[in-house]
Amino acid sequence: MRKFVSKIKEKRWNVSAQPQIFERWEHEGIYRFDKNSQKPIFAIDTPPPYANAPWHVGGAIHYAYQDFFVRYLRMKGYELLYPMGLDRNGLPVEVQTEKEFGIKMHETPRGEFIQKCEELLSRYGDQILSICRRLGISYNSLEWDEVYKTDQPEYRALTQATIIELWHKGLIYEDDRPNNWCSECGTTLADAEIEYREMETTLVTMRFKVKETGEDLHIVTTRPELLPAIGLVIYHPDDPRYHHLEGKTAITPLFEIEVPIMTDREAQMDFGTGIAMMCSFGDLTDIRLFSERQIPPRYAINAEGRMTELAGKYQGMTVKDARAAVIEDMKEHGLLIKQEKTQHRQPVCWRSKTPIEFIGMKEYYLKQQEFIPILLEYAEKVEWHPPSMKQVWINWLNAVRQDWPISRRRFYGTELPIWYCKRCGFPHLPPPGKYYRPWRDPAPFDACSKCGETKFEGETRTVDTWLDSSISHIYITSHPHNKHDPEVFERILDQNEWEFICSLRPNGIDIVRTWFHYAMLRTEQLYQMSAFQHAWISGMVVAHDGRPMSKSLGNVVDPYDEIEKYGSDAFRLFGALEASHGSNIRYASDRVAGVARFMQKLWSITRYISAFPELTTGFKLTATDKWILAELSQLTQEVDRTYITFDFNPGAKAIRHFIWEVFADHYIELAKSRAYNRENAFTEVEQQSVWYTLHLCARTLLKLLAPICPFITEAIWTQLYSTKSIHLEKFPEPFKDIDPMSIKNTNTIMAINSAIWGLKKQNNRSLRSEMEEICLPTNLMAFSKDLQAMHNAKLVNPTDMPLAEWLESIRRQPSTFLKL
Ligand SMILES: [Zn+2]
Ligand SMILES: [Zn+2]
Repeated sequence: MRKFVSKIKEKRWNVSAQPQIFERWEHEGIYRFDKNSQKPIFAIDTPPPYANAPWHVGGAIHYAYQDFFVRYLRMKGYELLYPMGLDRNGLPVEVQTEKEFGIKMHETPRGEFIQKCEELLSRYGDQILSICRRLGISYNSLEWDEVYKTDQPEYRALTQATIIELWHKGLIYEDDRPNNWCSECGTTLADAEIEYREMETTLVTMRFKVKETGEDLHIVTTRPELLPAIGLVIYHPDDPRYHHLEGKTAITPLFEIEVPIMTDREAQMDFGTGIAMMCSFGDLTDIRLFSERQIPPRYAINAEGRMTELAGKYQGMTVKDARAAVIEDMKEHGLLIKQEKTQHRQPVCWRSKTPIEFIGMKEYYLKQQEFIPILLEYAEKVEWHPPSMKQVWINWLNAVRQDWPISRRRFYGTELPIWYCKRCGFPHLPPPGKYYRPWRDPAPFDACSKCGETKFEGETRTVDTWLDSSISHIYITSHPHNKHDPEVFERILDQNEWEFICSLRPNGIDIVRTWFHYAMLRTEQLYQMSAFQHAWISGMVVAHDGRPMSKSLGNVVDPYDEIEKYGSDAFRLFGALEASHGSNIRYASDRVAGVARFMQKLWSITRYISAFPELTTGFKLTATDKWILAELSQLTQEVDRTYITFDFNPGAKAIRHFIWEVFADHYIELAKSRAYNRENAFTEVEQQSVWYTLHLCARTLLKLLAPICPFITEAIWTQLYSTKSIHLEKFPEPFKDIDPMSIKNTNTIMAINSAIWGLKKQNNRSLRSEMEEICLPTNLMAFSKDLQAMHNAKLVNPTDMPLAEWLESIRRQPSTFLKL
């Protein structure tokens, strides 16, 4: 008798084989970007992960998901440009450096502080990249596998080149206006960096005096410490309670400052007493009123978040301390009417969660308000995945109220490339192309073009980190190793008909208003086109209970441990299976463990198949073979249809269902006797037909799964089918010569198998035990030989019963049709 020996030797899929597989990919350079390729280029702008902290499982799943598209599109015949970078500029790096080294940026020499930042960045950057490799992320770049960093001189030179270009276009200007200020981070923030939190605060009712009448005036505020910055007192013009006060003067408690009482529609009749004090930089309403009425600003709080000399005896106190002291003093002097706790929507810094102050300061701005209409047009042109995410950006565009403040009083960032003439102060910008450090380097000019002075002063400020990040798509398509590669860049733009730069931007929902928004704004300003054709917006990965993962909650899961334990494929497939695209993923280790069992199932199935020879001729498909191939053909179509929309959830679910519940449970069981043919019940042609079908199924399933599970599919593929990588294969297509109608048999086949298994179990018989007879509707008789062998039945008899009726009766009363 013929012996069948599995070509795949190991019984279990060993996840420790992954690193060698990755090394092989690297060694063979199979993901190399070929700039001479004739295939259409598909460029994906990652965006590069921020390297200020180790990843939790969220970062790992987010980037693994991107790799699904990359591998799929490669199999679909595109030339993939998918560079991996590390974002290494700005506030988050500085804040983390201060924390880890226990230093303060403004108290540390600039060069030394920069060095400490670099130390931290290289540690976390290495960790992130090592997880990328463990995950099998198939990145490349114009120069093969260079990982770019947004703080490398070439990158910063590009950021500066764009600043210089926009400066000459008149899009950057300097202005002294109130800005969002975080005293903790010591920096100006753009509106995009502000979050809102419900916070408890005290509502204080204070006693003012009316100078002319001597009467008391009760005013409610949450910011009594801003009394020294008061500019006026307002009430609503429709509020009859205060009509007699129009044009009179209010005197503040404690400070005894005299200010006019006026009407203004901003006053809320139903808040407090209906009368409000307006202070410089109290909130956005105050700022607008001061500027409309041209009241000179009064600065009560400085950049360190402390009270200025305007606050008199409270000078030097923090805002919080000053508030408490003012309340205490008012109490003592009988000026405090009432105190009550209230909830209040407080703008806070997105990094340190410190309440924002408005501080007047000279900063540089990049124009953005005048670009909102064109950006709204792009919102319609970009293809959003899922489509509902378009609204996230539109909402932000409609909320933008000011230009983008871009200068930062920080150290670890790209420097503003400006030198000022020491005599006349005129700002000079160097030619683009080099990386400039004006705080350190001598000015690259001989003399001031305005006054002839030869001495210059370098700008000390850096720029908002988003100014770097927002050009990553330009960098990756054009700037390998500081050599602008106009050839590839222009080829990409030509191919994209000068409508967009990168084909796809995968983006977390949390950075639509920053990374995505700024990339679109900057591309319009620089190239008058869209940055991207497609935007893929993902939800967040949260803890199993739905709360965000954070150190303080103690629920952070390290991806490295999970990958070690369950393997990258299971980890990746979990990401695809767990949530529909755009929704949050709840991370649960036990569910990853479940996916790892599925990986083992795939291994065992293909190992079983590997015992049979693969044929290309000498077979004639039976009804059973045609049926499973029709099912597989439909699966292929379904998977392809959803993968192309960048949603891998339905495809992954369909593959798992097919493999586990249809192919393994029913087809393999039905075909087993024929594959071995130990009793010679089948012809050689019938036996060879099942061998052919098994291998065709294995090949197709491996390719369908390869984008999501790159390691296990590669391990099986290279042991069974080719020395060449599966990732260089073409994505499968539906079978042309298989009748798709054959899938109508699926339910009946599954129903009869389940009925027989159930009946045998009920009667305490083993599944292989012999049975007398199976009655089949005539149109299922084509499957009789396989069914008879599978269930060890002596006879298969036809019945005239219509299919639907037979199905219903076999469910209710199996013993009528199945005789044990
Ligand atoms: Zn902050
Ligand atoms: Zn000058």
